[in-house]
Amino acid sequence: MKKLKALVTALVSAGCVLATAPAKAELSPNVVVDGVYEGIQHIHGYQATPKLVWNVSRGQRGGCGVIPGSHYCKLNHTVYITQQDIRMAYQHGDAALAYIVAHEYAHAMQIAHRFMPRTITASELQADCLAGIYLGAIPNLTFDQRDIQEIATFAYRIGDYASWSQHHHGTPAQRVKAVAVGMKASVNGKGLQGLSACRAY
Ligand SMILES: [Zn+2]
Repeated sequence: MKKLKALVTALVSAGCVLATAPAKAELSPNVVVDGVYEGIQHIHGYQATPKLVWNVSRGQRGGCGVIPGSHYCKLNHTVYITQQDIRMAYQHGDAALAYIVAHEYAHAMQIAHRFMPRTITASELQADCLAGIYLGAIPNLTFDQRDIQEIATFAYRIGDYASWSQHHHGTPAQRVKAVAVGMKASVNGKGLQGLSACRAY
């Protein structure tokens, strides 16, 4: 957990620039989802916006078959956010849900902007990095220190060590670092220009 602490500190120092307001109340899921969606659409000039189906149940059918969890389905250009993931996110807080939405939206933009990571792991870490950029740059939502902590602890939690698996999404530390790289780039690069920071994945 020492590593996590260092990473959280790095994230918080990036986030300090973003939010100086006092801690705010937790937002409800629909406000978070709408706010993040609207914010990212704005960043991308309302181009190639994926459809959104949220609050679906894992196991229902979506455009890519049975819904395994929150994901982006390329076949019908739709982001799915599940009830289960919304609940899991709120064990950390509203910012964790914002991160999930931004991550799935990022998968749609990887295709729209022809980002081509070579492996699933690289693609997942790049989506984390892009999510960091979005969350740092969206004009209509601000993230205070507690939000940044929520994002960091959630990213840490969903990391995995299954490096042999083709579904490996990155280790906990790699995932936190990827979001941090994105958030820092969004502050330094002022939004969209920062996207290039995520091309390295
Ligand atoms: Zn992903």
